[in-house]
Amino acid sequence: MEKHKNVLAIDGGIPVRIKPLPEESPGIHYYDSEEREAVLDVLTNRSPFRFYGPHVTNKCQVLEEEICSKYNIKHSLCVNSGTAAIYIALAALEIGPGDEVLLPGYLWTSCINAIITLGAIPRLVDIDDTFTMCPEDLEKKINKHSKVVLYINMSGTTGRIDEIKKISKQHEIKVLEDNCQAFGGKFKGVPTGTIGDIGIVSFQLNKVITSGEGGLIMCNDEHLFRRCFGIHDLGYARDKLGILMDTSCDEKYHMWGTGSRMSELQGAVLLAQFRKVDKIISKMHRAKYTIRENINNIDGILLRTIIDPDGDTGSFLIITLPGRQICQKFVEALRAEGIRSKGYANPCVSFLEWGLHLYYNNKSLVNKKSLHPGGWPWTLSENYFSTDYNYRKGELPVCDELFDQSCLLKISSALTEKDVENIISAIRKVSAHLL
Ligand SMILES: *Cc1c(COP(=O)(O)O)cnc(C)c1O
Repeated sequence: MEKHKNVLAIDGGIPVRIKPLPEESPGIHYYDSEEREAVLDVLTNRSPFRFYGPHVTNKCQVLEEEICSKYNIKHSLCVNSGTAAIYIALAALEIGPGDEVLLPGYLWTSCINAIITLGAIPRLVDIDDTFTMCPEDLEKKINKHSKVVLYINMSGTTGRIDEIKKISKQHEIKVLEDNCQAFGGKFKGVPTGTIGDIGIVSFQLNKVITSGEGGLIMCNDEHLFRRCFGIHDLGYARDKLGILMDTSCDEKYHMWGTGSRMSELQGAVLLAQFRKVDKIISKMHRAKYTIRENINNIDGILLRTIIDPDGDTGSFLIITLPGRQICQKFVEALRAEGIRSKGYANPCVSFLEWGLHLYYNNKSLVNKKSLHPGGWPWTLSENYFSTDYNYRKGELPVCDELFDQSCLLKISSALTEKDVENIISAIRKVSAHLL
């Protein structure tokens, strides 16, 4: 007996596809001779340090210049991770004990780490239908301790960042824009990462372009940039030969450094990757919007609100379903239909499986953990106002509801037309049974 094609694979039917989908990690699918030659150039010249060496090839510097010119921003600075970039940017903005940093409940753990290790207090803000910070809730949460809004462009694109900026400006609060997940994206024509007072980026494996590890800071303000420079390095400026200006540097810019420089080897890979960024994004964008257009009329499926679809990098598709159990079943059924990959980057996950992206899954945060036995920063007298702050599930009703009922599809930069077709068929098939 022929098995019925319209029986769900999870119930013993024939799956839509067998072959695993390509992994996400958009950048690595585009590695070719350009990345290899750039790295070889650094090795051949025996100059892996960006500031001096026998024959520096200036990969990091050229990368910074090209980023500034393409994204129309005055300063950019390569660093060694997105996590370091957040710490440096917050330190440059003079965040410390007594200050509160507002951030959304849909986040990545690095965003919280930096706030706490600087001695400040994270304050959670709810999200809205864009899955990024909700302007109305931000307005409600702002108080006299609020110093910086850490706005995060989550899952490939931004939300109502223009409203966030307006509210922040009214309250004289700076905006740090975390663009780790949306590098190369835009909002109403303006490159994401350049909308806040400082923007930060990650070049870790899962991001739009990658050198395995790496990060970037972008800003227009010269003073902030000079602070970032010292903090990212060893606390001092460098002269034209790349030597630390330990005595001659302007005293105003004597900082404490964090040893977060980028190596020329990373710079080399990223320079080659950066020149492909539009190509990578257009591939993901086309795949994502083909899928969206083909599933948006299915009853029971709600798609994430995208304010500016043209500026979306396309790296993630978010679907909200009518209920928690149905969402989990939907994801499991899609995987059974073959919407999965071989290994580390499962392309289809429910939010409840999305780990440290959800505020309440971060046990260190929920339990107000400290690196120091004294309990710092929670126990500091300057942070008295945070005694009643709570980070447990239940704090942010919109987050909690959306996390329960939503799932993500990671859009690989290597999907073929057939892969996209299969994804659409699988969603249609599973929806017809479950919704
Ligand atoms: C990846 C990521 C970071 C951290 O970047 P690393 O380079 O891994 O340190 C920070 N914020 C967000 C939103 C991220 O997705």
